[in-house]
Amino acid sequence: MRWRALSVWLLGWGTSGILFSLFVLTGCCTPWHGPAVVTTPTGSRICAKHRIPLVTVDGYQIHTEPNECIDPDSDKVEHVKLCYPNAIPWYESLTSFNGHGDPAKITYCPLCERGAQRITK
Ligand SMILES: [Zn+2]
Repeated sequence: MRWRALSVWLLGWGTSGILFSLFVLTGCCTPWHGPAVVTTPTGSRICAKHRIPLVTVDGYQIHTEPNECIDPDSDKVEHVKLCYPNAIPWYESLTSFNGHGDPAKITYCPLCERGAQRITK
């Protein structure tokens, strides 16, 4: 009887450990699966995760070729892409990249971007 209780306890701990690891790896966010953007019947493009309209503003973009002046943390980049499908990507910004970058229109979801900021700061 004790072994059975122990095995049930270990099984529970193992499952909890796996869930805890996933929770830590995803940084307390819910990974998003599915399309990033949904087009409404009226033609508006909304964030599929948050169901709010995407925002388009003036910003900056750098080229993504190797040897650029900015080297993103690839773990954080993947984490943001996994959890916040419409955050501003690492190669775009609302402000210039320390004087670098070309003016560009940036489209993003404010709630995705807020979540991404929590991960990348
Ligand atoms: Zn969003």
